[in-house]
Amino acid sequence: MKLLYNARIYTLDRSAPRAEALVIEGERILAVGGADLIDQVDARAEKHDLGGGTVLPGLTDAHMHVHQYALGLKKVDCETATLAACLERVGERALATPPGQWILGHGWAQNDWPDLPSEGEGFPTAAELDAATSDHPVYLTAKSLHAGWINSAAMRLAGISSSTADPVDGRILHDAAGAPTGILLEAAMGLVNGALPQYTVADVADAVERAQPLLWQMGLTGLHDFDQRTCFMALQTLHQSGRLGLRVTKSVPVDLLPHAHALGLRSGFGDDLLRIGSVKVFMDGALGPRTAAMFQPYLNEPENRGILNMDGEALFEIGCQAAEVGLSVAVHAIGDRANHEVLNAFEQLRTHEHELGLPALRHRIEHVQVLHPVDRPRLAALKIIASMQPIHAISDMSAADRFWGKRSRYAYAWKTQRNHGARLAFGSDAPVESPNPFWGLHAAVTRRRPDGTPAPEGWYPAERVTMRTALEAYTVGPAYAAGVEDRLGRLKPGLLADLVVLRKDPFTCPSDDLLSLASSATMLSGEWVWQAP
Ligand SMILES: [Zn+2]
Repeated sequence: MKLLYNARIYTLDRSAPRAEALVIEGERILAVGGADLIDQVDARAEKHDLGGGTVLPGLTDAHMHVHQYALGLKKVDCETATLAACLERVGERALATPPGQWILGHGWAQNDWPDLPSEGEGFPTAAELDAATSDHPVYLTAKSLHAGWINSAAMRLAGISSSTADPVDGRILHDAAGAPTGILLEAAMGLVNGALPQYTVADVADAVERAQPLLWQMGLTGLHDFDQRTCFMALQTLHQSGRLGLRVTKSVPVDLLPHAHALGLRSGFGDDLLRIGSVKVFMDGALGPRTAAMFQPYLNEPENRGILNMDGEALFEIGCQAAEVGLSVAVHAIGDRANHEVLNAFEQLRTHEHELGLPALRHRIEHVQVLHPVDRPRLAALKIIASMQPIHAISDMSAADRFWGKRSRYAYAWKTQRNHGARLAFGSDAPVESPNPFWGLHAAVTRRRPDGTPAPEGWYPAERVTMRTALEAYTVGPAYAAGVEDRLGRLKPGLLADLVVLRKDPFTCPSDDLLSLASSATMLSGEWVWQAP
């Protein structure tokens, strides 16, 4: 038995929102109360004086790619202020890498680079990378993960030439002479996959295990993962060997739905550490590469309305197949057109579930990045979870203003969703962004970049939410989405003891202090998994 005392505890339990002490028996919370708990508890209990620190329920990132995040910790960080700085990092890595070995990198965003040459249609080209190294194949993924940039050596290994056809749902950019420029959009990125170094399940398991302490330090005790089969296998490897220290809800890629259906696999299968989540479907692309599906064209690109992968009818068919076996559906939708089609599909699916006497599953839209005004109340009306990433608003605001213009008023609109009554689940889409939930909380409550811009009130400040709403979206919201709200997300008797201890109180500290907030101790299932030295 453990007694945690001398703490400012935010339980997120409406019947007893504040407390000063907690008693934990095994993996569960036994009692929550005031300082008087100390006198009532068994004398043999281990006593932990939290020194006046703040305690919150452990945070969950409701949308991340843990496999890619973990492997990405070893990649060249391409999130630089200029193209030149990115190329310099690639050059440095080349010096430390044996010739012929792949150099992988992630995080570039060409829209942020002032020194981009004009040849590449708004993108960098292979020529620039060739100047950094011609001895190594180089593959750098964009921050959005919807575009890839390769050098000539990588192009040769991947067999991409002027005659390579665009794959379905993807595009290879070409120069005026018809040669590929080195930029692959959407599904065209898959052309490189066969040539890339292959990671085994054990490699991924080791990488995830090494990433865990970083996530605990950020205050995370859980995540909803949207990576693939190797990731699922790696997570099972970690779980079976007792090394999994995060609660993971694992999505099922839509191309595997027929197998999941044949097997009768349903959302929630597993245990409190690793369980099956939703079937993940992609409806469109992303804002950065201007592939998000829009009703009206992108500003200054009258022909471009993005890429819609399927219409609502096709998604409905997928939804029926999933719902029949009890699998919920999580649909990536960025553009207003994509979100509209998804909502149409969910509307039909709700009727279908009702008619067949199926349970109303916890379907979700991932990102909900921009909505047509008439669609704003529909997530709440259909009980669809709004899985959003506050940090995206901060990184994307200038691109959104430039490509969507006035439509940005309806973008990243978590307050609107909250007001309509939709359930919010917040995440980071790491490695697209850092999984640090305190950066996400800062973005959600300020809508300002870390440098304070746009001052003083932030970008479309009407969409700011309170700390309580934002924190619930990292705790109660993801627990609901995973169907475990009776066991996780709050601190109350009977629930699993997942919590984080902070030196500052996020409810009262200046909002900019959130940016440097980290866990001083993180507990999972009643055990400290991380304690600051
Ligand atoms: Zn994602």
